Amino acid sequence: LGQRVTQALASLSAAPVIDEAVLDACLKEIAAALLQADVNVRLVASLRNNVKKRVNVSELGRGLSKQRIIEKAVFDELCSMIEGGQAAQQEFKKGRTNIVMFVGLQGAGKTTTCTKYAHYYKRKGFKPAMVCADTFRAGAFDQLKQNATKAQIPFYGSYTETDPAVIAQQGVERFKQEKRDLIIVDTSGRHKQEESLFEEMRQVAAAVQPDHVIFVMDGSIGQAAFDQAKAFHDSVDVGQVIITKLDGHAKGGGALSAVAATQSPITFIGTGEHMHEFEHFEAKKFVGRLLGKGDWGGFIDKVKDAIPEEDQQQELIEKISKGEFTLRIMYEQFQNIMKMGPMSQVMSMIPGFSNAIMQPGSEKESQAKLKRFMTIMDSMTAKELDSSSTKIFSEPSRILRWARGSGSSVIDVQLMLEEYKRLAKVFSTAMKGMKIPKNLKGDMNPRN
Ligand code: GDP
Ligand code: MG
Repeated sequence: LGQRVTQALASLSAAPVIDEAVLDACLKEIAAALLQADVNVRLVASLRNNVKKRVNVSELGRGLSKQRIIEKAVFDELCSMIEGGQAAQQEFKKGRTNIVMFVGLQGAGKTTTCTKYAHYYKRKGFKPAMVCADTFRAGAFDQLKQNATKAQIPFYGSYTETDPAVIAQQGVERFKQEKRDLIIVDTSGRHKQEESLFEEMRQVAAAVQPDHVIFVMDGSIGQAAFDQAKAFHDSVDVGQVIITKLDGHAKGGGALSAVAATQSPITFIGTGEHMHEFEHFEAKKFVGRLLGKGDWGGFIDKVKDAIPEEDQQQELIEKISKGEFTLRIMYEQFQNIMKMGPMSQVMSMIPGFSNAIMQPGSEKESQAKLKRFMTIMDSMTAKELDSSSTKIFSEPSRILRWARGSGSSVIDVQLMLEEYKRLAKVFSTAMKGMKIPKNLKGDMNPRN
């Protein structure tokens, strides 16, 4: 998307005169790029109109500055589209009962997000509790129980009661009595938008009288986002949106649509399956990524600069492009990262990655950690480094050998292996989604 927008803007500077027609052509191209990033058709149309209104063609200068003016107008318009609902955001009050209800389709990430949300507010000093009002999905209560136990959050649910509204009401009652101040009600979903689901949501909402309804949306659903969000909003008055799975290759343009359909702010984003992979939503950062400023594209550029133009690197790129991520590749990535200098800068460009490697604000510690991990990998055999099977990770004798060989503890080895598993996931999805290797190859090897 970024590239397409940049190209469209660049075409402006090529034109001898900037008139309506030239600006139109440019906006048309930007609109096409946004549509491709799953931004809703209606939103794109209004964005085009707004930019046209804002940019006065006759006052545009020449060269770069006019590009900047238009680019900034597009950026600002996208930000204000997202920020439109942001003002309404309310904070919870301590010392009273706040009830929030999570809604969304099956698999959107509700149950996972409930736990992240509870964990987040627990750390802020709240006393959260979770209620499982999902009687639709088999094992729903067990899943919530497991999550809640891990996060040490009190929970409520039932294996026998089949009416979600009844369970929800019982759970909320129980936790009100226990003076919990943030009661989170997890609900069931369906694979599709079905009337039965919305009827169920209305009943649960009537039973628990939530202060906030939070719509959870899978960041990769794309054009369907508008209708989906609107359907939930129409039945239970959504007041907040959380976008999940932004750690994958999702472009996330659907987020704009969810905001428009619900007139509600996006409060958080999910960037992984784990409890701590949860970030505050920041409109500017999000739009920046959407437009390709400080996004994967930027990251790839940096990597490209850091990787020496050697033939062996070619192999690495090819492997990554196939989605293979071995320990050796991780090793080489760490090396590149060390070369690239300010690591936080690079890492912050990748959704979910900062959490994977970095503790915020501790550049030195992260560097030290990478070094420690690289030392451990130095004690591995070539075969181990090139293996993409994780079976070898469960062999105690190997782990012991790596620990001894590198003068590290077994725990450090295990931490390194965990990191590998996590990065393998982040990298393979993202790299596959990017389809970057071809360009990279061409750019990196001028002989081709
Ligand atoms: P629900 O049906 O809406 O309750 O969805 P779940 O919470 O059960 O999540 C469905 C799947 O998505 C699970 O495998 C989760 O681990 C996964 N998931 C949820 N949020 C995220 C996220 O932010 N990133 C990634 N990668 N996976 C997520
Ligand atoms: Mg669930």
